[in-house]
Amino acid sequence: MAKRAALDAMVPMSKTPPERIYLSTPHLGELEHGYVAEAFATNWVAPLGPHVDAFEAEFCATVGASHALALSSGTAALHLALILAGVGPGDEVLVSTLTFVASVNPIVYLGAKPVFVDSERGSWNMDPALFCEALHSRARGGRLPKAVVLVHLYGQSADIDPIQAACDRYGVALIEDAAEALGASYKGRSPGTFGQSGIYSFNGNKIITTSGGGMLVSEDAALIAHGRKLATQARDDAAHYQHSEIGYNYRLSNVCAGIGRGQLAVLAERVDARRRNFEFYREALGDLPGLSFMPEASWGRHTRWLTCLSLEEQAFGASREQVRLAMVEQNIEARPVWKPMHLQPVFAGCESVGGAVAEDLFERGLCLPSGSLLNAGELERVVEVVRRVCPNCP
Ligand SMILES: *Cc1c(COP(=O)(O)O)cnc(C)c1O
Repeated sequence: MAKRAALDAMVPMSKTPPERIYLSTPHLGELEHGYVAEAFATNWVAPLGPHVDAFEAEFCATVGASHALALSSGTAALHLALILAGVGPGDEVLVSTLTFVASVNPIVYLGAKPVFVDSERGSWNMDPALFCEALHSRARGGRLPKAVVLVHLYGQSADIDPIQAACDRYGVALIEDAAEALGASYKGRSPGTFGQSGIYSFNGNKIITTSGGGMLVSEDAALIAHGRKLATQARDDAAHYQHSEIGYNYRLSNVCAGIGRGQLAVLAERVDARRRNFEFYREALGDLPGLSFMPEASWGRHTRWLTCLSLEEQAFGASREQVRLAMVEQNIEARPVWKPMHLQPVFAGCESVGGAVAEDLFERGLCLPSGSLLNAGELERVVEVVRRVCPNCP
C-alpha cells in the first residue's frame, strides 16, 4: 500500500486533457500524392492545367452533370452562378434561412436583397409549400425574385421537384447550393444538377476537400463558358489583354485540382464512412428520451456529412447547450445547428418568410463529430458524454 502511494506520487499531478475530437476533418486517400507530385514534376503549379480539366470531367461523371467549372471556392461558384442568372442591384433572391452564411453573402456582393425562407421538419431544408406560396403571392404582386438559392443541408437534398416546378412556372432561376451534399441523391440523381446551375465546395471540412475549392455545374454549355471567362478576369478572345466586362480571379490551381481528383476517387467510401458514424450514434443514442436525429427524407440518400440531433429538454432532462458544453469540457468539438440567417445581426432588416422551424432547430439542434477518420474509441467518447449529461437515461 505504502509502495503504491509512493509510486502514485511520482506520476505528474496535472491531468493531460483527452485528445481533441474534431467536427469534420480532411481525409486524404492514396492517389492525391501522386497527382500533386505530377503537377510539380511537370511544372503545372499555375492556375488551370491538365488536372483542372480532368477534375472537371471526372466531377461531371460523378454527379451526372454535362458541364463543370472548377473554382477557388464554393462561395466564388455561387457568386458566379448569381451573376450568370442576371442577379443585380435591387433584385430579390429567395434563399433558405437555415444555412451557412456563404449561401447568402454573394447575393449581397451583387447589391441584391436576400429574402429568407423557413425549413420544413421532414428534411430541415427549405419548405416547398411555404416557398410556392411566397412565389405565388409575389407573382400576384408583380415582384418576382430574380433567383432562388436552394440549400441542401448537412448532406441531404431538399425536396427539389415542387420548388423547381414553381421556378419554371414563373421563370425564376433555380440555383442549388449543394456545398454540403456532394454524394447525396434525390430520386436517383445528384442534388446540384437540377437547377439552372449548382455549386459544390471542397473546403477542408466538407466530405471531400482540395484544401479549398469549389465547382459550378450546369446543363447549359454557354453558361459555363461565360462563367469560365468571368473567373479568368473576363479576358476577351484576343491576344492583347482586352476586357468588355468585369471579371474575377476565381480559377482553381492545378495542384488543388490534383488533390480533388484523388478525393473524388474515394467519395463513395467517404459517404459510407459518414453513414456508418451515423448508424453508430443512432444505435447508441437512438433510445434516449427526447433525443431525435435529423430525419432522412424518403426521396433520397443522406450522406450524413454531419450527424445532427435535436433535443427535447423536458424529456431529455438537459438542454442542447448543456450537452455541447459537456463536449467542450472533454475536448470534443460539437456545434449548434446553423444560426438561421434571419436571426443574424448582419441581415437585420431583411425580409423572412416564416422562420419558426429554423429557430427551433437552431435552439435544440447539435452537430456531432462526423469525420470519416473517426475511430470506434472516439465515437464511444462522444456517446459517453451525451449519456452522462442525460439524467433520465437508462
Ligand atoms: C461550405 C459552404 C459554402 C461555401 O463553400 P466555400 O468553399 O467554403 O466557399 C456554401 N454554402 C454552404 C451551405 C456551405 O456549407
